Amino acid sequence: MASRPDAVIVGGGIIGLAAAWTLARRGATVTLFERDPVPRGATWAAGGMLVPLGEAPDPGPFLSFGLAGLAAWPDWARTLEEAAERPVDFTRCGKLLVADDAEAAAALRRRFDWQDADGHDVRWLDRAGVERVAPALAPRWAHGLHLPDQARVDPRRTGRALTAAARSAGVELRFGEAVEQILRLDGRVGGVRTAHGATVAAGAVVVAAGAWSGGLSGLPRPLPVRPVRGQMLSLELDAPVVDGLVAGAGAYLIPRRGEDDRPLLVVGASMEEAGFTVATDDPTVDGLRRAAEALVPELREAPEHARWAGLRPGTPDDLPVLGVDPELDGLVYATGHHRNGILLAPVTAEAVAGLVAGEMLSEPWARAFAPTRFHGGR
Ligand SMILES: Cc1cc2nc3c(=O)[nH]c(=O)nc-3n(C[C@H](O)[C@H](O)[C@H](O)COP(=O)(O)OP(=O)(O)OC[C@H]3O[C@@H](n4cnc5c(N)ncnc54)[C@H](O)[C@@H]3O)c2cc1C
Repeated sequence: MASRPDAVIVGGGIIGLAAAWTLARRGATVTLFERDPVPRGATWAAGGMLVPLGEAPDPGPFLSFGLAGLAAWPDWARTLEEAAERPVDFTRCGKLLVADDAEAAAALRRRFDWQDADGHDVRWLDRAGVERVAPALAPRWAHGLHLPDQARVDPRRTGRALTAAARSAGVELRFGEAVEQILRLDGRVGGVRTAHGATVAAGAVVVAAGAWSGGLSGLPRPLPVRPVRGQMLSLELDAPVVDGLVAGAGAYLIPRRGEDDRPLLVVGASMEEAGFTVATDDPTVDGLRRAAEALVPELREAPEHARWAGLRPGTPDDLPVLGVDPELDGLVYATGHHRNGILLAPVTAEAVAGLVAGEMLSEPWARAFAPTRFHGGR
C-alpha cells in the first residue's frame, strides 16, 4: 500500500505538476485538481531564475536545498523534455549582481566572502570584469559579483511540458475543478471534496495550491502561507542585450525566447503585500522599466511586450512548507516556495514522492521546513 499509494494533488502549478509526474513515474495512481482551466498561478508569472547563490541569505537549509535543486535541474529538464517532447529552455547562463555605490558593493562583497570561503564558484569583479561579462551595462556599475554556474529556465514552457509529461505518465488532470476541503477517514486523510461537491477518496493528499494553500478547509491547523505579489514586464529586442541574468538596484534582467522565438528581456520584480489581487499598476511597472534602463541604457529603445503580476506563496520565515502532517497521516504539504519554487521544483517533487511512500525527509530540511514549525512543533 505505502509503495503504491493513490494520491490527490491540489494545485497545478510547477510544484503540483512536478509532484504528480514524479509520483506517476514511481507507479502511483495520481489525480491532480487545478482550479483554473489553464493554470495561471505564480509559475506562469515567474522569471525562471535558478539562483540559489543569489537568493540564499546565509549557508543554511535553504541554500543546501536550493543547491540540490540546481544540481537536479539539468537531468530533470532533459528527462522532462524527452517525456513531453517540448523544450523548457534550461540554460546555464550565470548571474551577475552589480553595484554602483559603496553600500551596495559592500553587501555584495559580504556575500562573495562567505560563499567564496565555503568553496562556491563565485567571482569578484571590478569595472573591467563587469564589462567583460556584460558589455551593455552602463559604466556606473563598477562592482560585480559573478555566479557563473547559476541557470535559468522558461517557467511557462516548463508548466506546459509538465502538463504533457504528467498526462502521458497517466496522471488524471482535472483542470477547472477546485478542491474545497481535505477529508478525514479513520484518523487519517481520506481524500478531498471539490467545489462541485464531488468526493474523491485517496490514500494521500498533497497540498500544492501555492499562495492559496491556507484557504483549504479541513487542514488540521492554520497554514500561514500568504500571497506576496510580484509585478514584471518584458521588452522586445532585435538581439539579446545580455547573455546571462543580471541584477542591480531595483531590477533584474532575464533573457527569454518569445513564443515566436524572438528575443525578449524579462524585467522583474516587485515584492508587495497586496492580498490576493493579481494586477499590475503603472507606477510599479514603469519603475521597473526605469531601473532596467539604468542597467542597460539601450533598453530605452526597446518596445514593451507585456506586463503581468503573480502571487508568490510566502511564509513567515520565507522557507517552504514540506512534510507530512504529524496529526493527519497521508496529508503532505508542498507549498510556501516563495521566490524560488521554480528552482526547488525537482527536489520538492522527489521529496513529495518519498513522503507519500512513507520515507522521511532528510535533515536539516525536515526540521527547517516542518509544517508545524509555526505552531511550536518541529
Ligand atoms: C513575479 C514572480 C517572479 C518569480 N521568479 C522566480 C524565479 O525567477 N525563480 C524561481 O525559482 N521562482 C520564482 N518565483 C516563485 C515561483 O513562481 C513560485 O515559488 C512557484 O511558482 C510556486 O509554485 P506553486 O505550484 O506552489 O504555486 P502556483 O504556481 O501559484 O500554483 C498553485 C496552483 O494552485 C491552484 N489552486 C489554488 N487553489 C486551489 C484549489 N483550492 N484547488 C485546486 N487548485 C487550486 C492555482 O490556480 C494555481 O494554479 C517568482 C514568482 C513571481 C510571482
